[in-house]
Amino acid sequence: MIFFVTLIQKLGKKVQRIKLLPPNEINKIAAGEVVDRPANVVKELVENAIDAGSTKITVHIVDGGKELIRVADDGCGMSPQDAKFCIKNHATSKITSVEQLQEISTFGFRGEALASISAVSKFTLETKEKDGQGIQLKLDGGTLVAESEIPFDQGTDIKIADLFFNVPARQKFLKKRETENRHITQLFHAFCLDYLDIHFKLFVDGRQTVQCPPAKDIISRAAQLWGHNFAQQLTPIETEKKDGRPHITGAITNHEYFRYDRNNIFFFVNKRWIKNYQLSNALLKGYMNVLPPAKYPACCVFIEINPEEIDINIHPRKEEVKFLHPRT
Ligand code: ADP
Ligand code: MG
Repeated sequence: MIFFVTLIQKLGKKVQRIKLLPPNEINKIAAGEVVDRPANVVKELVENAIDAGSTKITVHIVDGGKELIRVADDGCGMSPQDAKFCIKNHATSKITSVEQLQEISTFGFRGEALASISAVSKFTLETKEKDGQGIQLKLDGGTLVAESEIPFDQGTDIKIADLFFNVPARQKFLKKRETENRHITQLFHAFCLDYLDIHFKLFVDGRQTVQCPPAKDIISRAAQLWGHNFAQQLTPIETEKKDGRPHITGAITNHEYFRYDRNNIFFFVNKRWIKNYQLSNALLKGYMNVLPPAKYPACCVFIEINPEEIDINIHPRKEEVKFLHPRT
């Protein structure tokens, strides 16, 4: 919940005044729920690009995303009118009622990601629909400062500069470049594993670190990301398809491979990258007598499950999932 009232205490505790915060301030607070580090911005923007039906998504980050995050896609783009609308609160093309929350298959549903992100950054949006007019909008801390018609190819290009420039309290908590780069890269790898048909590129401080043209299967994708030697250690997995049972596919490393960290353990539930303690524990148990102590496998496991058996709305950024029947 967004607490949009502040209590101003005057004259000791005798008089309390309630004041409504201006919309920009509300957005700054809301931004804290969607975004607490650059990787969350990348996530929201890439999800939007996927929802827009893109076949190519290119991300640039500078200084761990603190200086610049740029996401360009070749998706459906927006009309000038929609472009102006999408940066407003609760502007979404994805749902019209609360009842649709449970069934929604696209990513975002809040319709507030762009409003929140633009409130805490210097934001540039360029977009064009197939036969429409290209438009560029510039916002500073949520205020529109420039608007112009531009020639542009179909798609959308969003630049987020100086994240949290107007919220020093949050800016202070951003980690050093390497840490933010690591979070963004892991998230980006997850998108690459999840969407084999999309051509993904990642540039870190001007250097291309990920180049993933469409891949035919998960093992080829892993080879694009981590090399052929790594991909050779992977074994595809698939459970039998049975009515009402979760269906599991993906790939896991064999007993000859190990890592010193858990960074390459990826789980997806109904195509959403999630973190779930029970799942990773179950996996590690399976490797218990196979790998040396404190060594970890790598894996990419996709679980398809009836949406009614899970709750994806327990986390504001939907990074976790609760299973109603965790033992099955
Ligand atoms: P949500 O994704 O929850 O709808 P957002 O604030 O992320 O909310 O986006 C608002 C709206 O802006 C989306 O519903 C969509 O219509 C439009 N939009 C955002 N990003 C893109 C994009 N890359 N391509 C096309 N449309 C977009
Ligand atoms: Mg969104």
